[in-house]
Amino acid sequence: MPETHQLKPGNKIRLARTSTTGKDFHDDRDAAEAEFEALRLEMAELQYKLYAEGKRKLLIVLQAMDTGGKDSTIRKVFRGVNPQGMQITSFKAPSSLELDHDYLWRIHAAVPAKGKIGVFNRSHYEDVLVVRVENLVPEKVWKQRYEQINQFEQLLAASGTTILKFYLHISKEEQRQRLQERIDMPEKHWKFNTHDLIKRAQWDEYQSAYEAVLRRCTSKHAPWHVIPADQKWYRNLAIARVIVDTLRKMDPKFPPPEQAVDGITVD
Ligand code: AMP
Ligand code: MG
Repeated sequence: MPETHQLKPGNKIRLARTSTTGKDFHDDRDAAEAEFEALRLEMAELQYKLYAEGKRKLLIVLQAMDTGGKDSTIRKVFRGVNPQGMQITSFKAPSSLELDHDYLWRIHAAVPAKGKIGVFNRSHYEDVLVVRVENLVPEKVWKQRYEQINQFEQLLAASGTTILKFYLHISKEEQRQRLQERIDMPEKHWKFNTHDLIKRAQWDEYQSAYEAVLRRCTSKHAPWHVIPADQKWYRNLAIARVIVDTLRKMDPKFPPPEQAVDGITVD
């Protein structure tokens, strides 16, 4: 039985005491990669049926500290899945138009349509993470958001959206190495942003803000998974397992033909 990283409602997770190391959960990288490849193929088949069925939606939320691996998770885990059935949205700092609306406005507009798998690269959770750490709105405003987010996710779930949330958990040392690579390797310069160093200096504040999210916004219909993400091969496997397991349970089916097709011959 694979290790589960799914949190339960009412959890009191402490990130500093939660492993970031895939090797604590799996000791054979080759076997992990082989299992991952098989899961990837199965995911593509299940997604094809979800799309054909055209009724339900799967929303995958990715959150992490900088360099946590959100982009590479999208690149690796969804490789081979038909892009037409995917809806991927990267949330940046809100534009002035977006700021003229409530914080869920742009999020709601990006939730997957029927038959689609939607991926959020960052999400509404930034509105209780960066916004909280950097005091972008008063405390009394962001404090209400945990409950608002729970209600919003409940609305999505009640409207046929299955929600999976992943926090890619890396260590501070792993982040140091990955940031240093972005500085040392010319082909990674484009990913480097000096603001990442400021955020790194606020590591503890961000970890506390993440703990609040993981504790307060884990519900039965929208659970968080804390994925040990220092080793990319384990991260990919752990995420693929959850997604494929979820799609298997959704059990999408090809719709019946609109009319009887028996005996029709195309000239
Ligand atoms: P990246 O994901 O590296 O492209 O960076 C996107 C940036 O947008 C990050 O620094 C986020 O913290 C920031 N961001 C995303 N959502 C929000 C938000 N709701 N409010 C403020 N900043 C945000
Ligand atoms: Mg960045």
